[in-house]
Amino acid sequence: MQSTDTIIALASGSTPAGVAVVRLSGDQAFAVLQALTGQALTGQSLPEPRRMVLRNVQDPRTGEVLDRALVVRFASPNSFTGEDVVELHLHGGPAIVAGVIAAILDQPGCRQAVEGEFTRRAFDHGQLDLTAVEGLSDLVRARTAAQRRQALSAAGGAAHRVIETWKDQLLRARALVETMIDFVDEDIPDDLLAGARNQVQGVRQEMATELGKAQAGFAVREGLHVAIVGAPNVGKSTLLNALAGREAAIVSSIAGTTRDVVQVTFDLGGHLVVVSDTAGIRETMDEIEAEGVLRARRAMAEADFCIEVRDLSEPASSSAAIVSPPIVSAEAAGVLFWNKADQHNGAPPSDGISGSAKSGVGVDRLRDLIAEQARRLAADGETAVIQRSRHQTAIAEAAAALALWDDPSLSEEILASALERAIASLGQVVGAVHVEHMLDIIFREFCIGK
Ligand code: GDP
Ligand code: MG
Repeated sequence: MQSTDTIIALASGSTPAGVAVVRLSGDQAFAVLQALTGQALTGQSLPEPRRMVLRNVQDPRTGEVLDRALVVRFASPNSFTGEDVVELHLHGGPAIVAGVIAAILDQPGCRQAVEGEFTRRAFDHGQLDLTAVEGLSDLVRARTAAQRRQALSAAGGAAHRVIETWKDQLLRARALVETMIDFVDEDIPDDLLAGARNQVQGVRQEMATELGKAQAGFAVREGLHVAIVGAPNVGKSTLLNALAGREAAIVSSIAGTTRDVVQVTFDLGGHLVVVSDTAGIRETMDEIEAEGVLRARRAMAEADFCIEVRDLSEPASSSAAIVSPPIVSAEAAGVLFWNKADQHNGAPPSDGISGSAKSGVGVDRLRDLIAEQARRLAADGETAVIQRSRHQTAIAEAAAALALWDDPSLSEEILASALERAIASLGQVVGAVHVEHMLDIIFREFCIGK
């Protein structure tokens, strides 16, 4: 990847479309615009930066007009990438786009961009930090309103600002500690270390708050994970289909049909929800089914919300089969769903919801409970600094380094090195400190043209 190349790609979606945007970035971008708009011949000057103008776009090799289009240029450093950038807003016809791209690729110094290369250049030129890059990647993929709000906040630099503030405070604390180290024999005020301690304490508190919001951050970005669990044949797969509103899982009256975890993703009132239908939990000799049971336990452990299904027509067998520890406990958010109420004539159970996955009775209430949990988590999750495990790991490392400050016996040198480590961990989050491999993974998430 040579940053001196001028890169070009279709930045908009597939053709045909109303408009297609071709984007160029690099040293040759303006020269290419000049060649395409025939300005050498007509004597027209380049448009003013950031001002869109209507021009004929022609093939410089033949002079053939390929389209009449809106063009705009952005002069370095005031562009998305920080380089000279040109955007051609063409009519979205496949022959137009193909012709224009071929003409541009024929120009010296121009080549097709790879995935995420525009954004990579923006990062390399300091236009964006890594959390904003990730926010942009999420923004392009956002499927729900909550994901969009979360991604927009990260792309706008909200996480970056919080982390930079933490770094500043830690740098200030380090300056105080270093003053004490340097002037150990001289008369320095006693409260210097107390001042540093206050700075560190404040940052630690905010880090703890953000670490506490991490699960909410994940729930918005990846979706709220809901696990449907229970004994075989109680109606879990039927319930998944009822919740998702389509035939997503195999429903059968033979116990042990669902051997894997079936996941269905849908938008519930603006929140992404991922519901897992799991294998029935019971001790089993069947190897494949045993693996299914393992996966069911994992789905439960990772869930933000659990629905335990029991058969109201056979309450004893359906609850006895469930292995301890109890699935829906006080600390984990969840609900008990007494299914097959249509086959039950007695009084309704005192706990949970009763209904029928088959007829849909009670399913709306279940949906409301899930939506409520999604809303609760979204309140924190949309503004959470921690939205990926990468952030969680680095911030937890920083917090662990700062925890050394609790030990009053440690020397100033050790306290200073703890600050150093915490600052380095925060540097990883924003990308000030990074390894190439990690960047490759992040930029590969992008599509070509972004
Ligand atoms: P799973 O093993 O827990 O996934 O259970 P399934 O969803 O495969 O359902 C097992 C059997 O119970 C099937 O024959 C379903 O049609 C039936 N079933 C599911 N829900 C209801 C219900 O609400 N009422 C009645 N009467 N039968 C149901
Ligand atoms: Mg099933």
